[in-house]
Amino acid sequence: MKVIGLTGGIGSGKSTVTDYLIARGFHVLDADQIAREIVLPGSEMLIQLASAFGRGIILEDGSLDRKKLGEIVFSDREKKKTLDGLMHTRILELIHERILQIREERKHKVIFIDAPLLFETGLHKSVSEIWLTDADDETRIQRIMARDGMSREEIEKRISAQMTREEKQSLADVILDNTGDQESLYQQIEQLMKKI
Ligand code: ADP
Repeated sequence: MKVIGLTGGIGSGKSTVTDYLIARGFHVLDADQIAREIVLPGSEMLIQLASAFGRGIILEDGSLDRKKLGEIVFSDREKKKTLDGLMHTRILELIHERILQIREERKHKVIFIDAPLLFETGLHKSVSEIWLTDADDETRIQRIMARDGMSREEIEKRISAQMTREEKQSLADVILDNTGDQESLYQQIEQLMKKI
């Protein structure tokens, strides 16, 4: 079974590709969803986070106070590293477990892992192939402005906080060029599917 890691910077079209793959009937593991599941109320991870960053990060109803945690880690590099270390380790463990389960089912020839932080977590080292959605910064900015109503300044800040396009391109096996329309993006995927 082939495991394809799908990644891409903000606004590059990663969700558009994921939606298309799901509609085409492919199995897609969602790393962001796993990241949300592991911090549900009462989870082991939430206990670990509370011991690292204080009980103040848990709301009265037992859920994670994301805003509070964000304030703590974004002003302190070491704390951000601690958080990423804890979260990424657990996310990788779970993804590996799920890949094993799916492999044992022998139902799929290929599965995808939708992982915005594929490279940053090191997950790219354990996939068979890396697909990157890519578009120039201006196209991404225009699309995110239309999608989220965020300001250009805020989007530029987010883009510059991420790994650069060039770094990602150099690590990818396949680059899905999303500067054209969605149809052209889907055609690229169909071409790749023929080779799987
Ligand atoms: P990401 O998941 O990488 O942040 P999305 O797939 O959400 O990016 O795409 C960002 C926005 O741009 C979405 O609103 C999406 O519908 C739109 N979009 C994506 N690809 C195209 C395209 N080829 N042409 C026009 N709009 C697009």
